[in-house]
Amino acid sequence: MTAESHSAAEIPSRLDQVREDIRLACRAAARPADAVKLVAVSKTMPAAAVEQAIEAGQRVFGENRVQEAYGKWPALKDLHPGLELHLIGPLQTNKVKEAVALFDVIETVDRPKLARALAEEMERVGRRPRCFVQVNTGEEPQKAGIAPDEAAEFVALCRETFGLPVVGLMCIPPLDEEPAMHFALLAKLAKESGLDELSMGMSGDFETAIAFGATYVRVGTAIFGARVLLE
Ligand SMILES: *Cc1c(COP(=O)(O)O)cnc(C)c1O
Repeated sequence: MTAESHSAAEIPSRLDQVREDIRLACRAAARPADAVKLVAVSKTMPAAAVEQAIEAGQRVFGENRVQEAYGKWPALKDLHPGLELHLIGPLQTNKVKEAVALFDVIETVDRPKLARALAEEMERVGRRPRCFVQVNTGEEPQKAGIAPDEAAEFVALCRETFGLPVVGLMCIPPLDEEPAMHFALLAKLAKESGLDELSMGMSGDFETAIAFGATYVRVGTAIFGARVLLE
């Protein structure tokens, strides 16, 4: 990769390309062009890179760390009203307060203790970020997410017991497997729980995810270039 491909100047054209690819994937799947929303994953990227994307019309962003997000997003949100920020990384219960205050969507609800803490904090401050339940479709021991066969019960617990605003399911398929079967499984689980939103698909596989019904795709590298810092 050339040095130039890392420059912020590339961001608008990369973003255009991703939007075009989303459009084409929607058409191929006979889905309306606006059926899929793009979450631009800006983790490790400086605020200047995010500004480039905002200038190019992007409004929805994803970060995977609460701490890092606090370093750049309060100022960006002040400058640009109407941005929508998604938490796409694991959430510790001791960061729930910060997460509820900053994020508009929390995509990684995956255990009862976290669901309870989120519900209590939302109740306390009167701010209710929409939630996704993360499903560990590959049942990988090191990966976050509820097991597929526990998803329905956990979604019901989140909604009925805790009153969380759960709108959909999210997954990160195993790196070394065909993502399609994981996307199909997530779509099936969402349907069984009566959930409309599906957050699935990243730079390498968002077209496949769209074919399987993704309503949010989370794309980082294809927009911002390769990440240099550790995630
Ligand atoms: C980093 C990340 C992405 C984006 O990955 P790319 O391959 O850079 O598009 C999507 N989802 C999650 C949960 C991530 O952590």
